[in-house]
Amino acid sequence: MAIASQSPQAVETDLQALARRHLWLHFSRMGGYGPEHEIPLITRAEGCYVYDEHGKRYLDGLSALFCVNAGHGRTELGDAAARQVAELDFYTLWSYAHPGAIELATRLASLAPGELNRVFFTSGGSEAVESALKLARNFHRLHGKGQKHKVIAREIAYHGTTLGALSATGITELRSQFEPLTPGACHVPNTNIYRWPADRDPLWAATAIEERIEFEGSDTVAAVILEPVQNAGGCFVPPDGYFQRVREICDRHDVLMISDEVICAWGRLGHMFGCERFGYQPDIVTVAKALTSAYAPMGALIASDRVAEPFMQGKESFAHGFTFAGHPLSSAVAMANLDVFEREDLCGHVLAKEGELRQMLESLHDLPIVGDVRGAGFFQAIELVKDKETKESFDDEEAEELLRGYLSGELYRRGLICRADDRGDPVIQLAPPLIADTEQFEEIHDVLRGVLTDAWERVRR
Ligand code: PLP
Repeated sequence: MAIASQSPQAVETDLQALARRHLWLHFSRMGGYGPEHEIPLITRAEGCYVYDEHGKRYLDGLSALFCVNAGHGRTELGDAAARQVAELDFYTLWSYAHPGAIELATRLASLAPGELNRVFFTSGGSEAVESALKLARNFHRLHGKGQKHKVIAREIAYHGTTLGALSATGITELRSQFEPLTPGACHVPNTNIYRWPADRDPLWAATAIEERIEFEGSDTVAAVILEPVQNAGGCFVPPDGYFQRVREICDRHDVLMISDEVICAWGRLGHMFGCERFGYQPDIVTVAKALTSAYAPMGALIASDRVAEPFMQGKESFAHGFTFAGHPLSSAVAMANLDVFEREDLCGHVLAKEGELRQMLESLHDLPIVGDVRGAGFFQAIELVKDKETKESFDDEEAEELLRGYLSGELYRRGLICRADDRGDPVIQLAPPLIADTEQFEEIHDVLRGVLTDAWERVRR
Protein backbone atom coordinates (compact mmCIF):
# COMPACT_ATOMS: atom_id res chain seq x y z
CA MET A 1 0.00 0.00 0.00
CA ALA A 2 2.86 2.34 0.84
CA ILE A 3 4.16 1.84 -2.67
CA ALA A 4 0.81 2.70 -4.28
CA SER A 5 0.72 6.07 -2.54
CA GLN A 6 4.14 7.12 -3.90
CA SER A 7 4.92 8.98 -7.10
CA PRO A 8 5.48 6.87 -10.24
CA GLN A 9 9.21 7.66 -10.12
CA ALA A 10 9.43 6.47 -6.53
CA VAL A 11 7.59 3.27 -7.42
CA GLU A 12 10.09 2.56 -10.19
CA THR A 13 13.02 3.21 -7.94
CA ASP A 14 11.57 1.10 -5.19
CA LEU A 15 10.86 -1.82 -7.48
CA GLN A 16 14.42 -1.79 -8.80
CA ALA A 17 15.84 -1.66 -5.30
CA LEU A 18 13.45 -4.28 -3.99
CA ALA A 19 14.18 -6.57 -6.91
CA ARG A 20 17.91 -6.22 -6.33
CA ARG A 21 17.45 -6.94 -2.64
CA HIS A 22 14.87 -9.73 -2.67
CA LEU A 23 14.26 -11.24 -6.09
CA TRP A 24 16.53 -13.96 -7.46
CA LEU A 25 16.47 -13.93 -11.26
CA HIS A 26 17.03 -17.22 -13.00
CA PHE A 27 20.24 -17.79 -14.96
CA SER A 28 21.22 -14.19 -14.18
CA ARG A 29 24.32 -12.52 -12.84
CA MET A 30 22.64 -10.68 -9.97
CA GLY A 31 25.90 -8.90 -9.13
CA GLY A 32 25.78 -7.16 -12.51
CA TYR A 33 22.69 -5.11 -11.60
CA GLY A 34 22.87 -1.82 -9.79
CA PRO A 35 21.83 1.84 -10.07
CA GLU A 36 23.88 2.05 -13.29
CA HIS A 37 22.48 -1.15 -14.73
CA GLU A 38 18.77 -1.60 -14.15
CA ILE A 39 17.01 -4.91 -14.04
CA PRO A 40 14.73 -5.04 -17.12
CA LEU A 41 11.34 -4.64 -15.47
CA ILE A 42 8.38 -5.53 -17.67
CA THR A 43 5.10 -4.16 -16.41
CA ARG A 44 2.59 -4.41 -19.26
CA ALA A 45 2.05 -6.30 -22.49
CA GLU A 46 -0.17 -6.21 -25.57
CA GLY A 47 -0.04 -8.28 -28.75
CA CYS A 48 3.59 -8.59 -29.89
CA TYR A 49 4.81 -5.86 -27.53
CA VAL A 50 5.77 -5.47 -23.90
CA TYR A 51 6.39 -2.28 -21.92
CA ASP A 52 8.88 -1.57 -19.15
CA GLU A 53 8.42 0.43 -15.96
CA HIS A 54 9.30 3.64 -17.83
CA GLY A 55 6.59 3.00 -20.42
CA LYS A 56 9.11 2.13 -23.13
CA ARG A 57 7.85 -0.34 -25.72
CA TYR A 58 9.72 -3.47 -26.85
CA LEU A 59 8.98 -5.94 -29.59
CA ASP A 60 8.85 -9.30 -27.85
CA GLY A 61 10.90 -11.17 -30.42
CA LEU A 62 11.21 -14.20 -28.16
CA SER A 63 7.56 -14.58 -27.08
CA ALA A 64 8.67 -14.29 -23.44
CA LEU A 65 11.02 -17.28 -23.77
CA PHE A 66 9.07 -19.19 -26.44
CA CYS A 67 5.91 -19.04 -24.34
CA VAL A 68 3.33 -16.46 -25.37
CA ASN A 69 2.62 -17.91 -28.79
CA ALA A 70 -0.91 -16.49 -29.02
CA GLY A 71 0.39 -13.02 -28.18
CA HIS A 72 0.04 -10.89 -25.07
CA GLY A 73 -3.04 -9.37 -23.52
CA ARG A 74 -5.76 -11.87 -24.42
CA THR A 75 -8.09 -11.31 -21.53
CA GLU A 76 -10.32 -14.16 -22.66
CA LEU A 77 -7.70 -16.56 -21.30
CA GLY A 78 -8.00 -14.89 -17.92
CA ASP A 79 -11.79 -14.97 -18.20
CA ALA A 80 -11.62 -18.73 -18.71
CA ALA A 81 -9.53 -19.01 -15.53
CA ALA A 82 -12.01 -16.82 -13.62
CA ARG A 83 -14.94 -18.98 -14.74
CA GLN A 84 -13.03 -22.06 -13.63
CA VAL A 85 -12.37 -20.62 -10.15
CA ALA A 86 -16.09 -20.07 -9.72
CA GLU A 87 -16.72 -23.71 -10.62
CA LEU A 88 -13.77 -25.60 -9.13
CA ASP A 89 -10.69 -23.76 -7.88
CA PHE A 90 -8.36 -26.68 -7.42
CA TYR A 91 -8.29 -30.36 -7.17
CA THR A 92 -5.30 -32.59 -7.54
CA LEU A 93 -4.79 -35.43 -10.02
CA TRP A 94 -3.36 -37.66 -7.30
CA SER A 95 -6.08 -40.35 -7.49
CA TYR A 96 -8.81 -37.85 -8.43
CA ALA A 97 -9.89 -36.37 -11.73
CA HIS A 98 -11.69 -33.16 -12.65
CA PRO A 99 -13.52 -32.21 -15.85
CA GLY A 100 -10.93 -29.63 -17.00
CA ALA A 101 -8.04 -32.10 -17.01
CA ILE A 102 -10.17 -34.79 -18.66
CA GLU A 103 -11.35 -32.47 -21.42
CA LEU A 104 -7.88 -31.10 -22.04
CA ALA A 105 -6.28 -34.57 -22.09
CA THR A 106 -8.91 -35.68 -24.60
CA ARG A 107 -8.25 -32.64 -26.77
CA LEU A 108 -4.47 -33.11 -26.66
CA ALA A 109 -4.87 -36.78 -27.58
CA SER A 110 -7.04 -35.82 -30.55
CA LEU A 111 -4.48 -33.22 -31.71
CA ALA A 112 -1.40 -35.37 -31.20
CA PRO A 113 -0.37 -37.56 -34.13
CA GLY A 114 -0.75 -41.34 -34.20
CA GLU A 115 -1.26 -43.28 -31.01
CA LEU A 116 -0.17 -40.51 -28.65
CA ASN A 117 -3.30 -40.81 -26.54
CA ARG A 118 -2.32 -40.74 -22.87
CA VAL A 119 -1.61 -37.42 -21.17
CA PHE A 120 0.36 -37.07 -17.92
CA PHE A 121 0.28 -33.45 -16.79
CA THR A 122 3.12 -31.59 -15.09
CA SER A 123 3.66 -27.98 -14.01
CA GLY A 124 6.31 -27.16 -16.62
CA GLY A 125 8.90 -28.38 -19.10
CA SER A 126 11.62 -29.75 -16.82
CA GLU A 127 8.98 -31.77 -14.99
CA ALA A 128 7.68 -33.06 -18.31
CA VAL A 129 11.17 -34.20 -19.35
CA GLU A 130 11.89 -35.62 -15.89
CA SER A 131 8.61 -37.55 -16.07
CA ALA A 132 9.38 -38.85 -19.57
CA LEU A 133 12.80 -40.13 -18.48
CA LYS A 134 11.30 -41.89 -15.45
CA LEU A 135 8.48 -43.26 -17.56
CA ALA A 136 10.95 -44.72 -20.06
CA ARG A 137 12.90 -46.49 -17.31
CA ASN A 138 9.73 -47.76 -15.68
CA PHE A 139 8.28 -48.93 -19.02
CA HIS A 140 11.28 -51.15 -19.71
CA ARG A 141 11.30 -52.47 -16.15
CA LEU A 142 7.68 -53.54 -16.53
CA HIS A 143 8.78 -55.45 -19.63
CA GLY A 144 11.44 -57.25 -17.61
CA LYS A 145 14.27 -55.08 -18.95
CA GLY A 146 15.18 -53.11 -15.85
CA GLN A 147 18.75 -52.72 -17.11
CA LYS A 148 17.49 -50.32 -19.78
CA HIS A 149 17.94 -47.03 -17.97
CA LYS A 150 20.24 -44.80 -20.04
CA VAL A 151 19.16 -41.84 -22.13
CA ILE A 152 20.88 -40.63 -25.27
CA ALA A 153 20.67 -36.87 -25.83
CA ARG A 154 22.45 -34.43 -28.08
CA GLU A 155 25.35 -32.13 -27.37
CA ILE A 156 24.42 -28.55 -26.44
CA ALA A 157 20.71 -29.48 -26.24
CA TYR A 158 18.76 -27.99 -23.33
CA HIS A 159 16.20 -30.27 -21.70
CA GLY A 160 15.66 -28.54 -18.35
CA THR A 161 17.22 -28.08 -14.95
CA THR A 162 15.94 -30.76 -12.57
CA LEU A 163 18.69 -33.30 -11.98
CA GLY A 164 17.29 -35.95 -14.32
CA ALA A 165 16.46 -33.48 -17.10
CA LEU A 166 19.80 -31.76 -16.50
CA SER A 167 21.59 -35.05 -17.06
CA ALA A 168 20.05 -35.05 -20.57
CA THR A 169 20.99 -31.39 -21.07
CA GLY A 170 24.20 -31.30 -23.06
CA ILE A 171 25.64 -27.96 -21.96
CA THR A 172 28.75 -28.42 -19.85
CA GLU A 173 28.52 -25.04 -18.08
CA LEU A 174 25.01 -25.81 -16.86
CA ARG A 175 25.94 -29.29 -15.67
CA SER A 176 29.36 -28.96 -14.09
CA GLN A 177 28.31 -27.08 -10.96
CA PHE A 178 25.76 -29.69 -9.96
CA GLU A 179 27.58 -32.93 -10.53
CA PRO A 180 27.19 -35.76 -9.91
CA LEU A 181 24.01 -35.76 -12.00
CA THR A 182 21.55 -38.60 -12.49
CA PRO A 183 23.61 -41.43 -13.94
CA GLY A 184 23.00 -42.86 -17.38
CA ALA A 185 22.95 -39.88 -19.75
CA CYS A 186 25.09 -40.07 -22.88
CA HIS A 187 25.57 -37.37 -25.49
CA VAL A 188 25.90 -37.60 -29.25
CA PRO A 189 26.49 -34.99 -31.97
CA ASN A 190 23.67 -32.63 -32.88
CA THR A 191 22.70 -31.48 -36.38
CA ASN A 192 24.80 -28.33 -36.59
CA ILE A 193 25.01 -28.71 -40.38
CA TYR A 194 26.62 -25.29 -40.87
CA ARG A 195 29.76 -26.64 -39.23
CA TRP A 196 29.81 -29.99 -41.01
CA PRO A 197 32.23 -30.72 -43.87
CA ALA A 198 30.38 -30.41 -47.19
CA ASP A 199 30.86 -34.07 -48.07
CA ARG A 200 29.54 -35.47 -44.78
CA ASP A 201 26.78 -38.09 -44.99
CA PRO A 202 23.62 -36.11 -44.12
CA LEU A 203 22.51 -38.94 -41.83
CA TRP A 204 25.85 -39.03 -40.01
CA ALA A 205 24.35 -37.68 -36.77
CA ALA A 206 21.59 -40.30 -36.83
CA THR A 207 24.17 -43.05 -37.33
CA ALA A 208 26.07 -41.64 -34.34
CA ILE A 209 23.00 -42.39 -32.21
CA GLU A 210 23.03 -46.03 -33.27
CA GLU A 211 26.75 -46.29 -32.69
CA ARG A 212 26.32 -44.90 -29.19
CA ILE A 213 23.47 -47.29 -28.41
CA GLU A 214 25.66 -50.19 -29.54
CA PHE A 215 28.65 -48.86 -27.59
CA GLU A 216 26.58 -48.56 -24.40
CA GLY A 217 24.85 -51.88 -25.07
CA SER A 218 21.28 -51.64 -26.27
CA ASP A 219 20.13 -53.65 -23.25
CA THR A 220 21.11 -50.61 -21.12
CA VAL A 221 19.49 -47.82 -23.18
CA ALA A 222 15.94 -46.72 -22.36
CA ALA A 223 15.37 -43.70 -24.58
CA VAL A 224 16.65 -41.14 -27.04
CA ILE A 225 15.52 -37.56 -26.42
CA LEU A 226 15.63 -34.88 -29.13
CA GLU A 227 13.92 -31.64 -30.06
CA PRO A 228 12.41 -31.32 -33.55
CA VAL A 229 14.56 -28.20 -34.01
CA GLN A 230 17.30 -27.97 -31.39
CA ASN A 231 17.11 -24.66 -29.59
CA ALA A 232 20.44 -24.34 -27.80
CA GLY A 233 23.22 -23.77 -30.29
CA GLY A 234 20.77 -21.82 -32.44
CA CYS A 235 17.86 -23.59 -34.15
CA PHE A 236 19.56 -26.69 -35.54
CA VAL A 237 17.24 -28.09 -38.21
CA PRO A 238 17.57 -31.82 -39.00
CA PRO A 239 18.68 -32.99 -42.43
CA ASP A 240 16.01 -34.74 -44.50
CA GLY A 241 15.40 -38.26 -43.29
CA TYR A 242 17.20 -37.73 -39.95
CA PHE A 243 14.21 -38.39 -37.72
CA GLN A 244 13.02 -41.30 -39.86
CA ARG A 245 16.45 -42.91 -39.42
CA VAL A 246 16.39 -42.24 -35.67
CA ARG A 247 12.94 -43.85 -35.52
CA GLU A 248 14.26 -46.98 -37.26
CA ILE A 249 17.25 -47.11 -34.90
CA CYS A 250 15.00 -46.79 -31.84
CA ASP A 251 12.76 -49.59 -33.12
CA ARG A 252 15.72 -51.82 -33.91
CA HIS A 253 17.12 -51.46 -30.39
CA ASP A 254 13.86 -51.31 -28.41
CA VAL A 255 14.62 -47.74 -27.32
CA LEU A 256 11.85 -45.16 -26.77
CA MET A 257 11.93 -42.00 -28.86
CA ILE A 258 11.11 -38.88 -26.83
CA SER A 259 10.36 -35.73 -28.80
CA ASP A 260 11.04 -32.79 -26.48
CA GLU A 261 8.64 -30.18 -27.84
CA VAL A 262 8.67 -27.76 -24.93
CA ILE A 263 9.49 -25.09 -27.52
CA CYS A 264 8.58 -26.70 -30.86
CA ALA A 265 4.92 -27.59 -30.19
CA TRP A 266 1.94 -25.21 -30.32
CA GLY A 267 2.54 -23.63 -33.69
CA ARG A 268 6.16 -22.59 -33.28
CA LEU A 269 7.01 -24.62 -36.39
CA GLY A 270 3.61 -24.12 -38.04
CA HIS A 271 2.06 -27.29 -36.61
CA MET A 272 0.53 -28.18 -33.29
CA PHE A 273 3.44 -30.59 -32.75
CA GLY A 274 6.97 -30.22 -34.06
CA CYS A 275 7.19 -33.90 -35.04
CA GLU A 276 4.40 -33.27 -37.58
CA ARG A 277 6.63 -30.83 -39.41
CA PHE A 278 9.26 -33.51 -39.96
CA GLY A 279 6.89 -36.46 -40.29
CA TYR A 280 8.05 -38.74 -37.48
CA GLN A 281 6.13 -40.55 -34.79
CA PRO A 282 7.63 -40.39 -31.29
CA ASP A 283 6.71 -42.69 -28.39
CA ILE A 284 6.52 -39.79 -25.95
CA VAL A 285 6.15 -36.03 -26.54
CA THR A 286 6.98 -33.48 -23.86
CA VAL A 287 5.27 -30.07 -23.97
CA ALA A 288 4.90 -26.98 -21.76
CA LYS A 289 5.29 -23.20 -22.29
CA ALA A 290 2.79 -22.27 -25.06
CA LEU A 291 0.31 -25.03 -24.19
CA THR A 292 -1.36 -22.20 -22.27
CA SER A 293 0.55 -19.47 -24.11
CA ALA A 294 2.07 -19.29 -20.59
CA TYR A 295 -0.95 -17.45 -19.19
CA ALA A 296 -0.83 -20.22 -16.56
CA PRO A 297 1.95 -22.71 -15.82
CA MET A 298 1.45 -26.14 -17.31
CA GLY A 299 3.37 -28.96 -18.96
CA ALA A 300 2.61 -32.51 -19.99
CA LEU A 301 3.97 -35.65 -21.46
CA ILE A 302 1.86 -37.42 -24.02
CA ALA A 303 2.59 -41.13 -24.27
CA SER A 304 1.64 -43.59 -26.95
CA ASP A 305 -0.84 -46.33 -26.14
CA ARG A 306 2.00 -48.85 -26.30
CA VAL A 307 4.03 -46.96 -23.68
CA ALA A 308 1.06 -46.34 -21.39
CA GLU A 309 -0.47 -49.81 -21.69
CA PRO A 310 1.61 -51.69 -19.06
CA PHE A 311 0.69 -49.04 -16.49
CA MET A 312 -3.02 -49.49 -17.09
CA GLN A 313 -3.08 -53.14 -15.97
CA GLY A 314 -4.02 -54.70 -12.62
CA LYS A 315 -2.05 -53.29 -9.70
CA GLU A 316 0.48 -51.34 -11.77
CA SER A 317 0.81 -47.58 -11.50
CA PHE A 318 3.27 -44.85 -12.49
CA ALA A 319 4.50 -43.94 -8.99
CA HIS A 320 5.15 -40.33 -9.88
CA GLY A 321 3.30 -37.02 -9.75
CA PHE A 322 3.24 -33.31 -8.94
CA THR A 323 0.64 -31.62 -6.73
CA PHE A 324 -0.17 -28.82 -9.19
CA ALA A 325 -0.08 -30.90 -12.37
CA GLY A 326 -3.20 -30.53 -14.48
CA HIS A 327 -4.37 -27.62 -12.32
CA PRO A 328 -7.98 -26.74 -13.19
CA LEU A 329 -7.05 -23.10 -13.91
CA SER A 330 -4.23 -24.09 -16.20
CA SER A 331 -6.47 -26.64 -17.92
CA ALA A 332 -9.13 -23.99 -18.54
CA VAL A 333 -6.52 -21.54 -19.85
CA ALA A 334 -5.04 -24.21 -22.14
CA MET A 335 -8.50 -24.94 -23.58
CA ALA A 336 -9.11 -21.23 -24.21
CA ASN A 337 -5.64 -20.91 -25.73
CA LEU A 338 -6.27 -23.80 -28.11
CA ASP A 339 -9.59 -22.17 -29.05
CA VAL A 340 -7.63 -19.08 -30.11
CA PHE A 341 -5.22 -21.25 -32.11
CA GLU A 342 -8.10 -22.86 -33.98
CA ARG A 343 -10.23 -19.75 -34.44
CA GLU A 344 -7.35 -17.67 -35.80
CA ASP A 345 -5.54 -20.54 -37.52
CA LEU A 346 -2.22 -19.53 -35.96
CA CYS A 347 -0.45 -22.57 -37.44
CA GLY A 348 -1.68 -21.56 -40.90
CA HIS A 349 -0.43 -18.02 -40.29
CA VAL A 350 3.04 -19.28 -39.38
CA LEU A 351 3.22 -21.47 -42.48
CA ALA A 352 2.04 -18.58 -44.67
CA LYS A 353 4.46 -16.05 -43.15
CA GLU A 354 7.57 -17.99 -42.20
CA GLY A 355 9.05 -17.45 -45.67
CA GLU A 356 8.72 -13.70 -45.26
CA LEU A 357 10.34 -13.77 -41.81
CA ARG A 358 13.14 -15.91 -43.17
CA GLN A 359 13.67 -13.69 -46.21
CA MET A 360 13.96 -10.67 -43.97
CA LEU A 361 16.66 -12.42 -41.90
CA GLU A 362 18.43 -13.70 -45.03
CA SER A 363 18.60 -10.11 -46.29
CA LEU A 364 21.09 -9.47 -43.46
CA HIS A 365 23.58 -11.78 -45.16
CA ASP A 366 25.32 -8.76 -46.69
CA LEU A 367 26.61 -7.91 -43.19
CA PRO A 368 30.08 -9.39 -42.62
CA ILE A 369 29.15 -10.67 -39.15
CA VAL A 370 26.21 -12.80 -40.36
CA GLY A 371 27.48 -16.32 -40.98
CA ASP A 372 24.35 -18.46 -41.13
CA VAL A 373 20.59 -18.03 -40.99
CA ARG A 374 18.65 -21.14 -40.05
CA GLY A 375 15.50 -22.41 -38.40
CA ALA A 376 11.92 -23.33 -39.18
CA GLY A 377 8.58 -21.61 -38.69
CA PHE A 378 8.73 -18.66 -36.31
CA PHE A 379 11.89 -20.09 -34.75
CA GLN A 380 15.00 -18.71 -36.42
CA ALA A 381 18.63 -18.05 -35.58
CA ILE A 382 21.47 -15.99 -36.99
CA GLU A 383 24.96 -17.32 -36.32
CA LEU A 384 27.58 -14.61 -35.92
CA VAL A 385 31.09 -15.15 -37.23
CA LYS A 386 34.41 -13.37 -37.33
CA ASP A 387 35.09 -14.49 -40.89
CA LYS A 388 32.31 -15.35 -43.31
CA GLU A 389 34.57 -17.27 -45.71
CA THR A 390 36.27 -19.53 -43.17
CA LYS A 391 33.28 -19.53 -40.75
CA GLU A 392 35.74 -18.69 -37.99
CA SER A 393 33.87 -18.08 -34.77
CA PHE A 394 34.64 -15.82 -31.83
CA ASP A 395 36.72 -17.17 -28.97
CA ASP A 396 35.22 -17.29 -25.46
CA GLU A 397 36.48 -13.87 -24.47
CA GLU A 398 35.31 -12.25 -27.70
CA ALA A 399 31.91 -13.94 -27.47
CA GLU A 400 31.54 -12.72 -23.89
CA GLU A 401 32.39 -9.17 -24.94
CA LEU A 402 30.19 -9.32 -28.05
CA LEU A 403 27.10 -10.98 -26.59
CA ARG A 404 27.00 -9.96 -22.94
CA GLY A 405 29.10 -6.86 -23.24
CA TYR A 406 27.24 -5.43 -26.21
CA LEU A 407 24.52 -7.23 -28.15
CA SER A 408 22.14 -8.28 -25.36
CA GLY A 409 22.03 -4.80 -23.87
CA GLU A 410 22.04 -2.92 -27.16
CA LEU A 411 19.20 -4.93 -28.74
CA TYR A 412 17.14 -4.28 -25.63
CA ARG A 413 18.04 -0.59 -25.62
CA ARG A 414 16.85 -0.37 -29.23
CA GLY A 415 13.55 -1.98 -28.35
CA LEU A 416 13.96 -5.59 -29.44
CA ILE A 417 13.82 -8.52 -27.05
CA CYS A 418 15.51 -11.52 -28.58
CA ARG A 419 18.21 -13.89 -27.47
CA ALA A 420 21.93 -13.39 -27.89
CA ASP A 421 23.27 -16.78 -26.88
CA ASP A 422 26.61 -18.54 -26.77
CA ARG A 423 25.73 -21.98 -25.49
CA GLY A 424 27.21 -23.14 -28.78
CA ASP A 425 28.72 -20.65 -31.21
CA PRO A 426 27.32 -17.10 -30.84
CA VAL A 427 23.79 -16.74 -32.22
CA ILE A 428 20.86 -14.37 -32.12
CA GLN A 429 17.54 -16.15 -31.84
CA LEU A 430 14.12 -14.95 -32.85
CA ALA A 431 10.80 -16.51 -31.95
CA PRO A 432 8.10 -13.84 -32.13
CA PRO A 433 4.50 -14.45 -31.12
CA LEU A 434 2.65 -16.36 -33.83
CA ILE A 435 0.51 -13.30 -34.59
CA ALA A 436 3.58 -11.36 -35.76
CA ASP A 437 3.40 -10.06 -39.32
CA THR A 438 5.20 -7.86 -41.86
CA GLU A 439 5.24 -4.81 -39.56
CA GLN A 440 7.05 -6.74 -36.82
CA PHE A 441 9.39 -8.46 -39.28
CA GLU A 442 10.45 -5.06 -40.63
CA GLU A 443 11.00 -3.78 -37.12
CA ILE A 444 13.16 -6.81 -36.29
CA HIS A 445 15.13 -6.28 -39.48
CA ASP A 446 15.78 -2.61 -38.83
CA VAL A 447 16.97 -3.12 -35.27
CA LEU A 448 19.15 -6.10 -36.19
CA ARG A 449 20.73 -4.32 -39.15
CA GLY A 450 21.70 -1.33 -37.01
CA VAL A 451 22.97 -3.33 -34.05
CA LEU A 452 24.88 -5.91 -36.10
CA THR A 453 26.50 -3.19 -38.19
CA ASP A 454 27.70 -1.46 -35.03
CA ALA A 455 28.75 -4.78 -33.52
CA TRP A 456 31.00 -5.42 -36.51
CA GLU A 457 32.61 -2.02 -36.08
CA ARG A 458 33.40 -2.94 -32.48
CA VAL A 459 34.80 -6.32 -33.51
CA ARG A 460 37.11 -4.65 -36.04
CA ARG A 461 38.42 -2.14 -33.55
N1 PLP B 1 12.96 -28.82 -22.75
C1 PLP B 1 13.21 -27.86 -23.64
C2 PLP B 1 13.42 -28.23 -25.08
C3 PLP B 1 13.23 -26.51 -23.26
O1 PLP B 1 13.49 -25.56 -24.17
C4 PLP B 1 12.99 -26.20 -21.90
C5 PLP B 1 12.99 -24.80 -21.46
O2 PLP B 1 13.27 -23.88 -22.21
C6 PLP B 1 12.75 -27.24 -21.00
C7 PLP B 1 12.73 -28.53 -21.46
C8 PLP B 1 12.49 -26.93 -19.55
O3 PLP B 1 11.27 -26.28 -19.40
P1 PLP B 1 10.93 -25.42 -18.09
O4 PLP B 1 11.80 -24.22 -18.11
O5 PLP B 1 9.46 -25.12 -18.23
O6 PLP B 1 11.20 -26.29 -16.90
